[in-house]
Amino acid sequence: MGDIPAEPRWRAGGRTWYTGDMATELPICRTCGVQYAAPRPDCPVCLDERQYVGWGGQQWTTLAGLRASGHHGRVAREGPGVTGVGTDPPFAIGQRALLIQSPGGNVLWDMISYLDDDLVAQVRELGGISAIAISHPHFYGAMIEWAHAFDAPVYIHAADRQWVARPDPSVTFWDGDTREIGDGLTLIHVGLHFDGGQVLHWAAGPDGAGALLSGDIMTVVQDRRWVSFMRSYPNLIPERPSAIRRGLSRLEPYPFRRVYGAWWNRIIAADGAAAVRRSAERYLRWSLDEEA
Ligand SMILES: [Zn+2]
Ligand SMILES: [Zn+2]
Repeated sequence: MGDIPAEPRWRAGGRTWYTGDMATELPICRTCGVQYAAPRPDCPVCLDERQYVGWGGQQWTTLAGLRASGHHGRVAREGPGVTGVGTDPPFAIGQRALLIQSPGGNVLWDMISYLDDDLVAQVRELGGISAIAISHPHFYGAMIEWAHAFDAPVYIHAADRQWVARPDPSVTFWDGDTREIGDGLTLIHVGLHFDGGQVLHWAAGPDGAGALLSGDIMTVVQDRRWVSFMRSYPNLIPERPSAIRRGLSRLEPYPFRRVYGAWWNRIIAADGAAAVRRSAERYLRWSLDEEA
């Protein structure tokens, strides 16, 4: 790259930020987008049966490489009080993160592989980040870069501890069924897709009707009145009916109107809790070969 300045770029939040703070040379898997702590020959996330090694073999890039090839941040509204944060052009799995603006402190839900000074500045203008939480390992991206840039903890369910590719003190493992990470912001361990698969319930939004940020733990499908459930999406391995029933029972106490999936505009706009219930009933009816 050679264009990364050593001088401070701006002062914010009592800290002086340097582009040089970022680990721009650590390896990032081109297929899943996860950044590792050190070079390695393989990517365990992609070797797992839920992912796949790219057809051209294992390939790596870095933050500097992504920037050099023209990637940049994309920040756009996804709903009331919810801002999408993605990468343009899309990279790896192509998900976007979601910034929830909350009076008690903003929460970044899920993660991308990219970060640069401009993107840090844009997110700071929206109030920065008090806490980060990520649904599951496919979306770990460059989570440690984001944690360091915003001095925020990253909440990961302890059942997915083995998948953290870049161990760091900012990662906060939690155990159990639910965990509050902000004002009316609750992580729910539903245990679908991955053992530690978690979703985020936002009680206040929009208009107090509640929202669920589901990642692809329960994925919003093309017909945006429905979600579905898979152990592997790329390899089409179905999720277990018993796990779906258990996951849904943990969601039961939480009302929500909207469901935000993992990609731009993958949103159920109304009647979200009923849509998830109907979707589970449909899935179970087909997978258990029951009469309609
Ligand atoms: Zn990978
Ligand atoms: Zn996934």
